[in-house]
Amino acid sequence: MLRNVSLDEISDGKLYTENDMVRVDTNSCQGCRTVCCQNMGKTIVLDPMDVYRLTTGISRTFEEMLGRELELNVVDGLIMPNLKMQEKDGKCIFLQDDNRCSVHGMRPGICRMFPLGRYWEDNTHFKYIVQKGECNKDNLSKIKLKKWLGIEGLAAYDRFVILWHQYIKQLQSELSGLDDEQIRILNTFNLRLFYITPYAECRDESSFYQEFDKRVATAREKLGL
Ligand code: SF4
Ligand code: SF4
Repeated sequence: MLRNVSLDEISDGKLYTENDMVRVDTNSCQGCRTVCCQNMGKTIVLDPMDVYRLTTGISRTFEEMLGRELELNVVDGLIMPNLKMQEKDGKCIFLQDDNRCSVHGMRPGICRMFPLGRYWEDNTHFKYIVQKGECNKDNLSKIKLKKWLGIEGLAAYDRFVILWHQYIKQLQSELSGLDDEQIRILNTFNLRLFYITPYAECRDESSFYQEFDKRVATAREKLGL
C-alpha cells in the first residue's frame, strides 16, 4: 500500500540501506507490554513471495488459507490478499498465546521489516525508513539493517520486490481506462496467476524467483503491458 506523505511525517527523516546501522532491534520484544500483531486491519498485504513462503512452510494452499488466515481486499484498485485479523480478539491468527509469532521464519515481508518501511525514490529504487510511532519500546538497540531483515539472498529478494512493485504500478495505471467488468477480469487473472496457482513445484527460493519471472512475462504478454 503506497502512501503519499513526507518523510518527516512518518519517520526520523533519514533513508537507510542494507549495510546501515538502524535503531530497530527490539531484543525479541522482551519487557514490552504492548502486544503488536493485532488490530492491524487489512494492512499486512501479501506479495507472491509471502504466499510462496507461507503456503510451502505450512503446507496449505492459498485457497485453503483464504477465509481463515487470509482475506482479499481492494488495495489501490486491485484485489490483493492480506493477513486476516481474527474477529473474536482482533489478533493475527499466527500470534500464539505467549505473544510470539508461530510463523516467524516464514513471516510476511511487512512483518519482517517492522518497524522499518520502504521509501520508493522512483519506480526502480527504494530505501528503508524507520517508521515513527510504530514500535513504542524505549530502549531499542542498533543493528545492521540486513541482519534485522534476516533474508538470505537479499539482492535476489530486492530484485523481486522491485519487479513486483513495477508490475503492480503498471496494472494500477491501466485501471483508469477499464470498465467494471474489465477490472473484474483483470483482478481474477492477476489473483489466479500470482496467488492461486501454487508455487509448490518451486523447490527453493531461487526456483521461486525463476517461476515468478515467467509469470510476470506471461502477465505482460497477455495484458499487453
Ligand atoms: S505473521 Fe507473525 S509477525 Fe506477522 S502479524 Fe502475524 S503474528 Fe505478527
Ligand atoms: S511495540 Fe515494539 S517491542 Fe513492543 S511488541 Fe511491538 S515490536 Fe515488540
